[in-house]
Amino acid sequence: MPLIAKVATSVSKTAAALSRAAGRGDGSVIGGWIGLKIDPDLLAHLAAGRAVALVSGTNGKTTTTRLTAAAVGVLGRVATNSFGANMPTGHTSALAKEGHTPFAVLEVDEHYLAQVIDQTRPKVVALLNLSRDQLDRAKEVAMMAQLWKTALAGHPEIRVVANADDPMVVWAAAGSRQTTWFSAGQRWHDDSFVCPESGHPIERSGGDWWCTGCPLRRPRPHWVVEDEGVIDPRGDWHLVKLQLPGRVNIGNAATALAVAGEFGVRPIEALPRLSRVASIAGRYAQVDRDGRNIRLLLAKNPASWLEAFDMADQAPTLLSINARDPDGLDTSWLYDVDFAPLRDRPVLITGDRAFDLAVRLQVNQVPFRHVNSFDEALRSVPPGRLEVIANYTAFQDIRAELDRVN
Ligand SMILES: [Zn+2]
Repeated sequence: MPLIAKVATSVSKTAAALSRAAGRGDGSVIGGWIGLKIDPDLLAHLAAGRAVALVSGTNGKTTTTRLTAAAVGVLGRVATNSFGANMPTGHTSALAKEGHTPFAVLEVDEHYLAQVIDQTRPKVVALLNLSRDQLDRAKEVAMMAQLWKTALAGHPEIRVVANADDPMVVWAAAGSRQTTWFSAGQRWHDDSFVCPESGHPIERSGGDWWCTGCPLRRPRPHWVVEDEGVIDPRGDWHLVKLQLPGRVNIGNAATALAVAGEFGVRPIEALPRLSRVASIAGRYAQVDRDGRNIRLLLAKNPASWLEAFDMADQAPTLLSINARDPDGLDTSWLYDVDFAPLRDRPVLITGDRAFDLAVRLQVNQVPFRHVNSFDEALRSVPPGRLEVIANYTAFQDIRAELDRVN
């Protein structure tokens, strides 16, 4: 590494450590920011010599990144941004902190994928899904898909691991020369009714889909979720035992196995490591308090709310909604979610924007009760499971109540 990059790495690590010592979070953003101020090419310098995988998409990227890092760990040490700091500052900090590792698995914000590809020269890029997110800030889904498509077109050497069930992802990845397709199912279809290539309607039947006006259609997947397991490209089925709940996480595991497969890791080697992942920065964490078993589910946008309803047990459920900066300021997305699956269980609501949620639930004919605090919620449910589904800052608030559970 050039001298300037060595200095920048050292200052970046120190800044991150100081930030941690001052109790201001994990320091990965400030550390990376200072490092990049000193050496704007620091991320490229730190990535050089490592085999890098990037993981991007609207939902599931933090979990999939963690599972992929666990799977690639079969081969040696892996640097990863495990706490969701998914912009170049976070990547820089993660690589600086770990020192030299043969591998890196990095979660990447969708908007930064092109830039991070240019700087880290990844071996593999995994594309999970694209759906509406943070209406006041995020790009339109079709624009996002176009950005990805352009980014990949400039790098034919990259192996792309992509979701065959999402037409927007398939279109973005279609020009790549080396594509491995996985099928993990897609519950949310509202952002892919129309073909991004030709504008014609997309038809669906069973798990299949095709454009009614051009050749775009679902490719044959190499990795497929089936029952409680995954079929690999050779046709062998592997039981996937996870501590993480729901079919969506079996899909995330299938993606991790597919990415690790590009590095030469076999499912039989990776699976025991996947089963050891219990929670990710508080997501899926379970805490026992006052006879209640509280489970934390993060849901940030309409597609992820659908997944959360699928994961949640039929038990008392606390919903918490904020609309602070990291959540997006516009709560009209609540009308994109069908809350009807919650009609069969006691529902409590809280958070800064609980009353927006109250109106939505009333329209959806879901009975609910408002509580002023997490403690009040806890006191008003019987002993046993309490499911908590919250959006980003609401999730962090409740996680803080539970002593920053990981
Ligand atoms: Zn079409």
